[in-house]
Amino acid sequence: MAVTQPQRSCVACRTVTEKHQLLRFVLAPDGQVVVDYRQQLPGRGLYTCFNQQCLVLAVKKNSFRRVFGATTQPVELVKLNGQLQQALIQRIKGLILMARKAGQLIAGSTMVLDALKRPAPPVAVVMATDIADNMKQKIDSTAKRQQIVCTQLFDKVSLGQLLGKEERSVVAIQGGALATLLNSELHRYELVREN
Ligand SMILES: [Zn+2]
Repeated sequence: MAVTQPQRSCVACRTVTEKHQLLRFVLAPDGQVVVDYRQQLPGRGLYTCFNQQCLVLAVKKNSFRRVFGATTQPVELVKLNGQLQQALIQRIKGLILMARKAGQLIAGSTMVLDALKRPAPPVAVVMATDIADNMKQKIDSTAKRQQIVCTQLFDKVSLGQLLGKEERSVVAIQGGALATLLNSELHRYELVREN
């Protein structure tokens, strides 16, 4: 049974798709264009695909001003990408905390490494940017055998702080809806980070 989700079109390439697949932007009262990552801010929204080509094209075509009107301040791609990166980091932190609450989080290199060797391994893995090289290689290669992608994000201290603990090199989430969501946000983060 397919539930119909609201559809929107990308201002750059005109592709029509479910609005949650797209990025939403709104105009703040001061005339600045802001990323509405959770799609909850009031007011008229402008949508683009989640890729740089469409974002660049929307800026180039002056789409923001066309949609939001003459009070719109000039849009800087670097700023939008910065906002987007921040929004993704908040979202990723939120999902990691939700997974912990749900009892689906595994933290620490030994625990994660053990879990990755099990028949039903965790499917989302976040490694600290300053994880020791030998541990990174061990986790990477074990995860690869299970066809799991590992993302490097946060340093050990931040990852630990997030969980109210001492530093942590790696966290992983057991398979399920949260892990699927986290992987999709991590993939988006990688796309934005490249810019
Ligand atoms: Zn597009």
